[in-house]
Amino acid sequence: MANELNTCALCGGKYEGFGNSTWGWWEMTTGCSTQEDNEKGEKYRCCDKCNAKKVVPARLYLAKMAGVKVSNGGSN
Ligand SMILES: [Zn+2]
Repeated sequence: MANELNTCALCGGKYEGFGNSTWGWWEMTTGCSTQEDNEKGEKYRCCDKCNAKKVVPARLYLAKMAGVKVSNGGSN
């Protein structure tokens, strides 16, 4: 089971091991956060490159957006 190759959900490249959760990426691409997006994050995993280049920036972006909402006194 060691060195098992998996396919990255974002670039289609191969990676070894567990890969990374893509949580955050789907929310950013669809522009909204749904239960489906959360499930996708766990189901579709990506390589280290995509995690660093796409998923991490997406999470930062979402955090920023969420931060703006909170500071505006949103009720949700
Ligand atoms: Zn990738």
